[in-house]
Formats: sequence, C-alpha cells, structure tokens
Amino acid sequence: MHVIVVGCGVIGVSTAWFLTRAGADVTVLERREGPALETSFANASMLTPSLSAPWNSPGVWLKLIKFLGRKEAALLVRPAAFPALLYWGYRFLRNSQPVRHEINLRKNLKLCNYSIDKMKELRSDTAVEYEADLSGVMEVCRDQADMKRGREHIRFLGADQVPAEELTPAGIVELEPALEPIRRELAGGFYFPADEVGDAHKFSRSLQRHAERHGARFRFGASVQEILGQQGSVQGVRLGNGEEIEANEVVVAAGSYTPRLVKALGVRVPVCPAKGYSLTTPMPEELPRLGHAVLDDGYKAGVVPLGASRIRVGGTVEFTGFNLDLSPERVANLRNLLAGVLPRHAEQIDVKDMQAWCGLRPASPDGVPIIGPTQVQGLSLATGHGHLGWSMAAGTGKALAQQIIGEGQEFPLEGYALARFD
Ligand SMILES: Cc1cc2nc3c(=O)[nH]c(=O)nc-3n(C[C@H](O)[C@H](O)[C@H](O)COP(=O)(O)OP(=O)(O)OC[C@H]3O[C@@H](n4cnc5c(N)ncnc54)[C@H](O)[C@@H]3O)c2cc1C
Repeated sequence: MHVIVVGCGVIGVSTAWFLTRAGADVTVLERREGPALETSFANASMLTPSLSAPWNSPGVWLKLIKFLGRKEAALLVRPAAFPALLYWGYRFLRNSQPVRHEINLRKNLKLCNYSIDKMKELRSDTAVEYEADLSGVMEVCRDQADMKRGREHIRFLGADQVPAEELTPAGIVELEPALEPIRRELAGGFYFPADEVGDAHKFSRSLQRHAERHGARFRFGASVQEILGQQGSVQGVRLGNGEEIEANEVVVAAGSYTPRLVKALGVRVPVCPAKGYSLTTPMPEELPRLGHAVLDDGYKAGVVPLGASRIRVGGTVEFTGFNLDLSPERVANLRNLLAGVLPRHAEQIDVKDMQAWCGLRPASPDGVPIIGPTQVQGLSLATGHGHLGWSMAAGTGKALAQQIIGEGQEFPLEGYALARFD
C-alpha cells in the first residue's frame, strides 16, 4: 500500500514513522527544505496532559471582550481576522458550553495520555534524540484566586488521569531553586510530574532519519498543489511543478494549510490559524540552571529549559489570519514573562541573543484535533491539534497508522473524525 503524507511537521513525521513500522510504503511530501520548519519549529516544547482543556472554557467570551483591543492580551483577536472567523468563531463559542467543554477536554486528555505512552515506546524503539526531559512541569500562581482555580481544575481532571501535587512557595523553591528570586511574589503552585519537555524540531529531524532508515521516502521542497481524486476516491497528488504521484492513501497533515488543500474535493475542514510566539535564549552559565518548565497561566505562556544550554519562553494566542510578522509588542510580552519568572536570568541575557519566532497553530473550533477519514475514500486528515500538537503527536501517528493499515485499533479514533462537524 503506497501512502502519501503531506506535511512533515511533528504530526506528519510521527504518522509517517508509525505507518512505515506497520509495513506501509510511505512518501512524505514537504514544501519546506527540511522537517518541522513551520509550527513545529520552536513551540513551547511541553508535552502536557495537564493542559488538555480547550481554550474555549465556559465564559471564554467574557475574556475575549475583556481582552478586545488590548495589544498585550494573552488571547487577542485582530479585526482583520473577523470575516474568516465568523462561522469558526460561532462554533468556538458554542463549544464553550460546560457539557461540550468537558467532553472535548476528556477527548484531549485521553489522546495526550496515550501519546505520552507512545513517546515512551518510541524512545525505547528508536533512541530518537530531542533533549527529552521527563522531570515534570510546574505551574506558579500569584494569588489565592489562581490557586483555588488550579485546585478545582486538578480535581476535575482526576488524579488517576493527571497526577498533581500542590506546592507552597517554599516547596516551589525546593523543587526549583532558580525561582528563589520570585518566592515572595508567589501564592503557591502545582507540580505535574507526568508532563514532559522536549524539542519538537529536533524530534522531527531525528525521527525522519529513523523512518528513512526503515524505508520511508522524504521529499523536501515538494509543494503539493492538488489532491487528485476521482469518483469519490483519492488517486494521488499533483505537485507545484506539475509532477503527479499516485497513492492508495493520502494523509493531509499540513497544519493550518490543510483546509485549502482539500477544499477542491469538497472536504470542509474547520481549522483556522492561531498565532503564537516564542523566544529562545541561552541559559546564563553563572546562575542556577532552570530545571523544570514553569507555566504562568495568566500569560498563557511557559518558561522552559531546553537541554543544559537554552531557555524557551513560548505561548500567547492571536487570531490574525495567516500573518507571520513578528509583532514587537507580542515579543515584548514574552520578554516580560521571562523577567517575571526568572528576573536574574533575564538581566543577564542580551536582547540580541534572544531569538524571536512565531507559528500558526492549527486550531479546531471544539479544541479537539481532527484525525481520520473523510468522505473521500483513501483521504485522511491529521490536523487541528491547536496548542497540543506536540503533546499528541506520537498518539496521533500511531492511532492513524493503525486505522489506515486496518490493524486492530489500540486507540479508537471515532470521536476525533471530521464527521463530528456534519
Ligand atoms: C508559540 C507556540 C507554542 C506552542 N507550544 C506547544 C507546546 O508546548 N506543546 C504542544 O503540545 N503544542 C504546542 N504548540 C502547538 C504545536 O506546535 C502545533 O500543534 C504543532 O506543531 C502542529 O503540528 P503540525 O504537524 O500539524 O503542523 P506544522 O508543524 O505546521 O506542519 C505542517 C507542515 O505541512 C507543510 N505544508 C503545508 N502545506 C503544504 C503543501 N501544500 N505541500 C507540502 N507541504 C505543506 C508545512 O510546510 C509544514 O511543515 C505551540 C504552538 C505555538 C505556535
């Protein structure tokens, strides 16, 4: 069976890997010059079942109104994005009803936890290199109201699903001495020992090489212009240079660009780009090394150690279409967050050593990824992972590969298919 995977971000490469391991003949087509050079390039690097809640929690519309027009807001909608967002936005708000929100959260949590398991399997199977750090993620709270919300949320997630530990300010510093300078500003926090950290770009590069060794073909600089279909069945793809490649199955894992690629076949995918920023800096050698990822929910962002030598600050959400300009205000937000969490480190790091980046998360209106078949025979989707694409990559790849190959399904994908939007 020849399977084409369109897109070599963290979702495409994981799917290609598991398809190859299951015995499929796989070709990955990627328009860029290497793996994971778009949204999977410099994300916040956390694999977090603890963050499974979709963004549209009950009452999100109040937050949107509060943030409207505030350039520093963690969640920002730019006026230019409004027309394209109308129908998507209606569905986004509809899914903030408590019952729907809980169903969607549970779906994400299940896939995140499955994915953490599959990452473990991958590490033992391949020795894939990505600066993996399994020491957990911390969340810090600056007032008692945040602590209360945190406790309620943890109870809601369930201790059997997301192990968590409440921390006092002294407990935070004991676990993470690099936070000593802000101890007095903290009301407390939470520690999620099962969450992980790793570099998604390095992972994708490394897994690509492993997949190649096992027989997968990767073509970079190969932009897919059209998915070819006839009588309701997929035939293959046509590249920008006119070349046609036949396939029995096509998986479109093209991130935010997926809807454009499949529209001509009558497949409507409600995914829109949600821009986020990151800042990658060197870790100052003379200060205590940050040992854990630290989340600050107020900023919708995290400060994350990558290996021994780098710190990455990533997050914030902006609906502004496909615009990839680096807005100085949004970059300044992340510099402020770094200074708010690690003031002494921030003082030591030269602004010119801070690498700013932005990417477009493929966001679905219910906050759950879209994985599985479409109404076109042989055409599958793997997109819409929003803020959880790295956390869900291995699980998505394995579950989709099993569905395509027709193997016994370890992780049923029914609740994730496009058909839920019919
Ligand atoms: C600031 C920020 C922080 C984040 N932090 C986290 C985090 O901490 N944890 C987490 O789990 N997730 C995080 N995410 C989300 C995560 O990065 C994404 O969900 C994930 O990268 C999406 O992967 P993807 O493979 O679907 O898309 P992409 O990485 O965008 O890959 C799609 C690929 O398809 C290619 N492509 C598109 N069109 C075509 C075409 N026509 N022909 C050929 N190739 C094509 C693109 O070039 C691209 O390489 C973050 C995102 C951002 C922006």
